[in-house]
Amino acid sequence: MLKGKTAVITGAARGIGREIAFRFAEQGADVAAIYSGSRDAAEELCEKIRALGRKASSYRCDVSNPDDVKETIVRIRSDFDGIDILVNNAGITKDLLIPQMKEEDFDRVLNVNLKGAFHMIRQTYMIFARKRAGRIINISSVSGLIGGAGQANYSAAKAGLIGLTKSVARELAGRNVTCNAIAPGLIDTSMTREMNQQAKEHILETIPMKRIGQAGDVANLALFLASDLSGYITGEVIRVDGGLCM
Ligand code: NAP
Repeated sequence: MLKGKTAVITGAARGIGREIAFRFAEQGADVAAIYSGSRDAAEELCEKIRALGRKASSYRCDVSNPDDVKETIVRIRSDFDGIDILVNNAGITKDLLIPQMKEEDFDRVLNVNLKGAFHMIRQTYMIFARKRAGRIINISSVSGLIGGAGQANYSAAKAGLIGLTKSVARELAGRNVTCNAIAPGLIDTSMTREMNQQAKEHILETIPMKRIGQAGDVANLALFLASDLSGYITGEVIRVDGGLCM
């Protein structure tokens, strides 16, 4: 499905990003895997991808730092033949109720989850526009659709990502570049393993499909959105949540 394409994926070393990177490679894509702290895991992923006969390199980059992002995209462009797919997956949580939430934690979550995607899109925008082809996929969250108690920063960032997605979709639609968002529900990764057990059980009770999602459930949709099959879909937000928010 992605033969001959190059995908840049942020937060590729772990969780959902790792699953997306591997799924893309299995379908023929070369992968530029961006990590921030998980160097060994990123290198291990690249080795697995190279074992499939695909090209893969890892890049340390803090997506919230615009200079870091600019430099990383320059390096990726010199290592690969262009960029066809961008997946903005890097994300963090710093959950607390608003009275306890520090302003710096509000800013940090916005800087990584929302501005990180903006920096990545800004540095790749003209590559896609000139090529008149491309796929941008932003990993938002159901928290961006319905909010989350204790997640004012995260929900604001993920809702902002949906606005960003639609604006990019409008700006680049005439250039045959699509931009869509995925809104996962509760997915089994280290992000949710850290969650309070009681809160998790409460959410599980409200999921019509009565199970936690797997990273592969999200990666399957990312694969479709990255492929030629989704060519007439842009500015869309698709939930992968077992029916949680219907
Ligand atoms: P995860 O396992 O905690 O992975 C988070 C990833 O983000 C890591 O690969 C991490 O890289 C990267 N990252 C964090 N800060 C970064 C920074 N400043 N610069 C670059 N990369 C950074 O969580 P996950 O569940 O796979 O989350 C992936 C995405 O899905 C996130 O955007 C998250 O908000 C979203 N999501 C998750 C769920 C869920 O239930 N799990 C639900 C809805 C949405 P390093 O390890 O290299 O630091």
